[in-house]
Amino acid sequence: MYPSRFRYEAPHSLDEAIGLLRDGGDYAKVLAGGQSLVPLMKLRFASPELVVDINNVPGLSYHRADPDGTLRIGALCRHVDLERSALLASTQPTMAAAAPLIADPIVRNRGTLVGSLCHADPQGDWASVVMSLGGSIVAQGPGGRRAIPVAEFVTGPFQTVLDPDEIAIEAFIPPAQGTRVGGYLKLERRVGDFATVGVAVSVETSGETVTRAGIALTGVGGSTIAATEAAAALTGRPITPESISQAAELAAGAARPRTDHRGSAEYKRHMVATFVTRILTNVGHGHADEAERAA
Ligand SMILES: Cc1cc2nc3c(=O)[nH]c(=O)nc-3n(C[C@H](O)[C@H](O)[C@H](O)COP(=O)(O)OP(=O)(O)OC[C@H]3O[C@@H](n4cnc5c(N)ncnc54)[C@H](O)[C@@H]3O)c2cc1C
Repeated sequence: MYPSRFRYEAPHSLDEAIGLLRDGGDYAKVLAGGQSLVPLMKLRFASPELVVDINNVPGLSYHRADPDGTLRIGALCRHVDLERSALLASTQPTMAAAAPLIADPIVRNRGTLVGSLCHADPQGDWASVVMSLGGSIVAQGPGGRRAIPVAEFVTGPFQTVLDPDEIAIEAFIPPAQGTRVGGYLKLERRVGDFATVGVAVSVETSGETVTRAGIALTGVGGSTIAATEAAAALTGRPITPESISQAAELAAGAARPRTDHRGSAEYKRHMVATFVTRILTNVGHGHADEAERAA
């Protein structure tokens, strides 16, 4: 199907883009990678009257670390940039694990992490990854810039706190307090599919002790779920079989899956527990190996 008629603008600056959005009001949409917006327009689930393509706005394609270790990902940084990133491979294990699991190579060439957060699909992988890391979005509008933690950014399926005339210009991940470990596991019916279940685990340790933990779940509720009690069960102590099994059980309890053609709610909950256990067991083994090497 063809999309409904719309006006297309491709501004060359953020100010111009924000001005266009302000004038377009509720009927304007930002276009980044177009990998979610364009299919929705073609199906006529979305019929914006104005599309503001930000791909000509310079200086938004970066991902880089500040001197203090804060990771910044610009609005036009593509999934593929993150998949191939040496920076992520060496400093962000949860993100590095997730990047190759987003969709397929064609979608990864165009789609953006920031666009994925703005799209707020409960099955979007980046939201749970960034949430587990305590990340935020920086939005810019006519009134200036504001930072919004991803945990507060998404208000429901495909809904965020962004004002219609705001552009999400970057996402950022705070620096690790200690050593950062973690992972992302995704159950998909076939390669390139959306998650039936996805689990992001990010843990920071000082010596053997967990100083910060984040666990977030993809595809098992009306929006991305922060399993805060499960994360709290890991914090302030070493990773042990007991803490792993406690976190796995609490994470499964936080999931709100529905039975559908991809599996029963019970099966999906079971997979959440399995993935939490698997990621934390790997992380725990890594620590044991490190301790052995240091001894
Ligand atoms: C076949 C297929 C398979 C896919 N599989 C997966 C998958 O397995 N996992 C997964 O996570 N995703 C998947 N996706 C989605 C993909 O990751 C998209 O790239 C992503 O969700 C949206 O990023 P985008 O840059 O393409 O955003 P767009 O499509 O350009 O925009 C999406 C929405 O976000 C808004 N938006 C985008 N950028 C901004 C911004 N900077 N400021 C304000 N609003 C903005 C747009 O207005 C629109 O409402 C898949 C997509 C396809 C087509």
